[in-house]
Amino acid sequence: MLQTHVLGFPRIGLQRELKFALEKYWRHEIDADALELVGQRLRTQHWVLQQQAGLDYVTVGDFAFYDHVLNHIQLLGCEPTRFNFTPEQTALNRYFIMARGVAADTTQALTQPALEMTKWFDTNYHYLVPEFTADTQFSLQSEQLFQEVQQAQQQGYAVKVVLISPLSFLWLGKITTGEKLSLLPRLIPVYQQILQRLHTMGVQWVQFDEPILGLDLTSPWKSAFQPTYDALATIPINLLLTSYFSPLADNLNLACQLPVAGLHIDAVRAPEEVQTIAQTLATDKVLSIGIIDGRNIWRTDLNAVLPVLKAIQAQRQASIWLAPSCSLLHCPLSLSQEQRLDAEVRTWLAFATEKLEELHVLKQALSDEKTVESALQENARILHQRRNSTRVHVPAVEERLTSLDASSDKRHARFNERQAKQRARFNLPLFPTTTIGSFPQTSEIRATRAAFKAGKLDQVSYIQQMQSAIAHAIEQQTQLGLDVLVHGEAERNDMVEYFGEQLEGFAFTQNGWVQSYGSRCVKPPIIYGDVWRARPMTVEWTTFAQSLTEKPMKGMLTGPITILQWSFVRDDQSRAQTALQIALAIRDEVVDLEHAGIGIIQIDEPAIREGLPLRKAQWENYLTGATRAFRIAASGVANTTQIHTHMCYAEFNDILPAIASLDADVITIETSRSQMELLTGFADFNYPNEIGPGVYDIHSPRVPSVEEMLNLLKKAAAVIPASHLWVNPDCGLKTRTWHETTAALRNMVTAAQTMRASL
Ligand code: GLN
Ligand code: ZN
Repeated sequence: MLQTHVLGFPRIGLQRELKFALEKYWRHEIDADALELVGQRLRTQHWVLQQQAGLDYVTVGDFAFYDHVLNHIQLLGCEPTRFNFTPEQTALNRYFIMARGVAADTTQALTQPALEMTKWFDTNYHYLVPEFTADTQFSLQSEQLFQEVQQAQQQGYAVKVVLISPLSFLWLGKITTGEKLSLLPRLIPVYQQILQRLHTMGVQWVQFDEPILGLDLTSPWKSAFQPTYDALATIPINLLLTSYFSPLADNLNLACQLPVAGLHIDAVRAPEEVQTIAQTLATDKVLSIGIIDGRNIWRTDLNAVLPVLKAIQAQRQASIWLAPSCSLLHCPLSLSQEQRLDAEVRTWLAFATEKLEELHVLKQALSDEKTVESALQENARILHQRRNSTRVHVPAVEERLTSLDASSDKRHARFNERQAKQRARFNLPLFPTTTIGSFPQTSEIRATRAAFKAGKLDQVSYIQQMQSAIAHAIEQQTQLGLDVLVHGEAERNDMVEYFGEQLEGFAFTQNGWVQSYGSRCVKPPIIYGDVWRARPMTVEWTTFAQSLTEKPMKGMLTGPITILQWSFVRDDQSRAQTALQIALAIRDEVVDLEHAGIGIIQIDEPAIREGLPLRKAQWENYLTGATRAFRIAASGVANTTQIHTHMCYAEFNDILPAIASLDADVITIETSRSQMELLTGFADFNYPNEIGPGVYDIHSPRVPSVEEMLNLLKKAAAVIPASHLWVNPDCGLKTRTWHETTAALRNMVTAAQTMRASL
């Protein structure tokens, strides 16, 4: 029979109950039992929703108090020995110590940093990285999963358990000595034990998450699949091999022939593979089709996907399942909490709960279409409305895009010529000093913004208070003797939200939270329509700042790719197209800043690297579009205007040609944590334009000494011509205190002066 399921469900709760319970627990306001109760209640609520939508299984094992990879670290008994846990410490205590580096019992002296955190594939979810050595041992350690299964069974549900497969689990970790794959023989028996336990408990299906099937794997990894799955096949339980986020591509045949009972594929990210897989996969295996987009918030075009599903159904009879493309962890929970969304836009959306309903309709439609005729008609009506809505389509924006020509993304002159003109204009010293944009967001600044937003502070007072924050930032920078100043970003809550709120085509939810890590959630804006800029967004604040100083004031904008990357993006045109629309809106702002006398403008693109597709074959296409969007934003200005960009990930040597092709006059990058190592890549590549390698880590309250920064600068000057070097911190300073900030910047300016004197 045709069945439906989900790969995973959001954990955080309608009112972010999990977040608040966790934070209370960490503050010792509730105890472990109370926290566990919140977890139980949330799991139950989510299973009820799944059951109400007629799913054939509820999914168990997707819940986690902090992170599901961390759950596996405990389940598989591989807590790193560096934590030196003692027998008195409960599993929950150890769990949060590994997650946060902080003991719930603060009397304990802590010497170990938390596990490292990194992005889960190409999502904005961060998992905790398992740590292995050649000696890592595994053993079945935690009862949590089995208790959750029991909880669901006691409530009468048919349970499908989700686990990360041993191969993907190893791949996600890092190893200090030896090879990760050499641990496999020790890991597989533990998985066999787990599967055996689940079998004994009466569980029939285990969803075996194998997201690395969507990556370019080396041959040792590829060869590890067959023996691993042969060993697991000895346990009498059905495995659903589960891939998502990316095409199977060269792993397609491998995935189809492993000895498992079924295969889940992401039909949203790789629709072109569906037919081949439907034909290749043996018909006695289940094919789970991830047909509903688990990574986005749009209502599915049910009438468009039905024919695809029917064709497969005709081929494979009953052996198909329907599901969202990936876990719904990456979607907000429910539209029911949204009272302020535009009524029309709201009808176009489906969050996790609404996606369950879509599954329900699809399932009905495939067995007896008449029963859901009206739902299908309603879906068609809404999608028709969306396609033709004047809220979505703004002809002037679409025309402007088509009229872009080959010169739109090019500065008037080449870099060398621009550099000479800008030198003559700004007359900066060698090793010019600057910062990345934000200054400390004090509680006063936050309170002022919150009061204004809540309507408790009038506009005149708000502007006055923001201006005094700006004036303060400029006073400090002047005293420190920085060369290129910034206004400090006091008026900005978030570097994407600030612009999204002022651009047309964006909507904001009240409660559209998505887990980023642990108790941290983000509320991405929704880009639903053509994007354009109705009026200047930063010109007033920036010119006010410039009026207070003779030094150049650097205008501060967020780039098109970062805005795109940190939003839910419309699915009715290509992402590249949407990026270009945002680029034009930013270009308008850049040009207006220039007209207002701002000579240096920074366009931040911290997210350009994280947008890289998982498959290398798709990189070029992405990078071509992304860099063009940036250049379109940056190229409307005269040669004498200096464009900066900023990026802050410690890894981009592999995309240096693309970074160079941005043709920013100056790039500031995070480098201090890699001890300038990163710069050698730029040097080897002969990076042509100017660079500001960050000389200190802004993530830490520590104040770096002059010597430290001087050493880093010397290292930098050994590989990059001094005439091309800038001096700046790694990133913005909004999370630091003023005290730390001025102390660190004072040392930074001294280091720059010492460098100048040494030449
Ligand atoms: N201009 C921003 C700031 O200083 C840049 C933030 C970022 O790179 N993430 O806060
Ligand atoms: Zn940064």
